This record gives sequence, structure tokens and C-alpha cells, in this order.
Amino acid sequence: MSELRDLYQEIILDHNKRPRNFGKPAHPTHEARGDNPLCGDKVTVYLTVENGLVKEAAFEGRGCAISTASASLMTESVKGKPVAEVQALFHRFHDMMTGNAPDAAGIDELDKLQVLSGVREYPMRVKCATLSWHTLTAALEGGATTVSTEAPGD
Ligand code: ZN
Repeated sequence: MSELRDLYQEIILDHNKRPRNFGKPAHPTHEARGDNPLCGDKVTVYLTVENGLVKEAAFEGRGCAISTASASLMTESVKGKPVAEVQALFHRFHDMMTGNAPDAAGIDELDKLQVLSGVREYPMRVKCATLSWHTLTAALEGGATTVSTEAPGD
């Protein structure tokens, strides 16, 4: 189990050092900003949605290793997926991070996002990992353009 832990750690550090899909794309159709004041993480998520499909996902921002790695892993996971699937994936991810064990199908679907499962042992860090996902949801809904982990009801 500790070997798996180390491997997870390595993947997180790699995504922090070399974030994937980093930078603002030319013509995003959706975007939102997220703020986690408890840690100082800030992220902007950019999406290009066409015909109900998330064609492109990218992000910018700065924050701790967990928030950067989580945003990087998120963009890789949602790219090419239908919006409804992305929303379902967010719920599974949120469940995993808040300690509800996903079913077998959920584990398959979470795939490499599972590297972040160890974060739930550090409650302060959970918001670092979920920030980019809340921001993604805000971007998809197109309502609020800025979300905060400290907003009421979170
Ligand atoms: Zn953080």
C-alpha cells in the first residue's frame, strides 16, 4: 500500500511540476474563476464546449501542489467527454474526496483521479483538490463567474 502511496505522490508532483493543458486557449466558450482563500489557491478554468461535448479543457492559476495537480488531472479527465458525463464524474470525485466510497463502476470511471484519494485524510487539503472541479461546474453552468470554497452552502 505504501508503494502505491509513493506512486500517487509521484504523479501528483509530476502534474504540479508540469501541469497539462495549462494556459488560456484562444477561444474558450466557457470560463470561471475559483478561489480557495484558506490556502491561497486561485484557478481559472477554460472550456470549449461544442454540441454538448467538452472539446477542450484548460486552466491557469497558481496555488499549492495539490490544487495545481488536481486541476491538471481534471482537464485531462474531462477532455472529450459529454457534459453530462463530466458532471457525473465530478459527483464521483466529490464523493471520493468527502469519504463516500464509490462503487466499482465509479472507481473505473475515476481512473487516475484516484491518485488524489489520499488527500481526504487532510481535511484542509480537500478544498485544494476540489477547487478546480467547483470552478469547472461554475464554468459549465455559466452563471457565477467566480466561486469561492468559502461560499455558503459549500
Ligand atoms: Zn491549496
